[in-house]
Amino acid sequence: MDKLKALILEKFQCLGCGNCCELANGYVYARPEEAVCIAKYLEMDIIAFLQKYTLKENGWLILSSAKFRANCFLDEHKKCQIYEVRPKNCRTYPDWFSVWKNYETFLKETEFCPGLKKVFMDLHKIFTEDFGDINNIDSKRFEK
Ligand code: SF4
Ligand code: SF4
Repeated sequence: MDKLKALILEKFQCLGCGNCCELANGYVYARPEEAVCIAKYLEMDIIAFLQKYTLKENGWLILSSAKFRANCFLDEHKKCQIYEVRPKNCRTYPDWFSVWKNYETFLKETEFCPGLKKVFMDLHKIFTEDFGDINNIDSKRFEK
């Protein structure tokens, strides 16, 4: 799995579909310094920014959740309006533990993230002669 992960993360390119912003079941967090940075980017006073765009829950600063600003900063074209200053939470995707826990969690994520699926399919073409259903790929190929 480590080899597969390294290969995929090296080649990964976001296709800008907005799924990971819109459909995430969890939360989008921001650290205080990130909130300051986003507020500056939006040319807003930090207090006004916090009041309008954040929620505090269990000590965490939340920019978005299923119940709060579910579209986060996506515009009508599904582009992040604060992309240049998006929080680490967003920058690190898809290098998340939940994605790479095991082969099944990874495969499930490829159904969610077209960028992940594309690079996996491209690599699959290189690694296998028969191009079949992604779910039939033998994960043991990538274990060495
Ligand atoms: S789901 Fe994947 S391709 Fe879509 S915006 Fe997120 S990282 Fe990019
Ligand atoms: S801050 Fe931008 S990249 Fe991050 S979840 Fe929100 S809309 Fe998506």
